[in-house]
Amino acid sequence: MRVHHVVAGVVRPRFVPRAICHVLVCEHADGLVLVDSGFGTADLADPRRLGPMGRLLRPDCDPSTTALAAVLALGHAAADVTHVVLTHLDLDHAGGLSDFPHAVVHTTAQEWEAATVGTGMRERPRYRPVQWQTTSDVRRYGGAGDAWQHGLTGHEVLPGITLVPMTGHTRGHAAVAVQAEDGLVVHAGDAAFDGSVFGAVDPVTGEPLGRVPHLRAFERVAARKPLRVRRNHAALRRLAADPGITVVTAHDGRLMPPDEDF
Ligand SMILES: [Zn+2]
Repeated sequence: MRVHHVVAGVVRPRFVPRAICHVLVCEHADGLVLVDSGFGTADLADPRRLGPMGRLLRPDCDPSTTALAAVLALGHAAADVTHVVLTHLDLDHAGGLSDFPHAVVHTTAQEWEAATVGTGMRERPRYRPVQWQTTSDVRRYGGAGDAWQHGLTGHEVLPGITLVPMTGHTRGHAAVAVQAEDGLVVHAGDAAFDGSVFGAVDPVTGEPLGRVPHLRAFERVAARKPLRVRRNHAALRRLAADPGITVVTAHDGRLMPPDEDF
């Protein structure tokens, strides 16, 4: 399937380089499928909706940096988006759901529970239930799933789209693998912040990316289970070393393919 890489949010936390919210728009046989959704138009119209974490992330309040704007720019309508597959439900990933209320949402059972049931003081601020209050169909996938690739497991949520559990950043975080026309695209979400941790190269020059210490520090602060985060980095290194796989992360803008118009 054809996969577009779009920007659905720009954040400027203090002391950290500008970061993007990288979203995939997939032309699937069942309609458009989003992988992650970034911030939504309602979030950017009224950032108070994002709570204290929104004040930390400081998103640009520019409605052109939303998945909805990207879908329209590609010549589609909001109603063409039939599914949204989420790496996790943090406020900078689930905000676009309110722009696609009719879409079926896919996430892990653990992540849905973390976001909706009895969250503690560390978890509560990162989730904003207002972002999915108009969502009516949420499919949840429990456990590890079936054997997948490179020693990992996953749940095939739609033909060619697999949710690959990688907990650590949040309780139920997952990567999402999409079978594109020219190979597999793995959206690692927040399983890594700085692409250099898994040996990513610049999509234009092919040169290895340099370390971004501030992004790594931010990752450590945001991680629920730091040891698992390290294990996820190792898994992403294995995936990125496979010539048939392209790994992107949610927030490292250096991984955005250069031929995208965004
Ligand atoms: Zn994030």
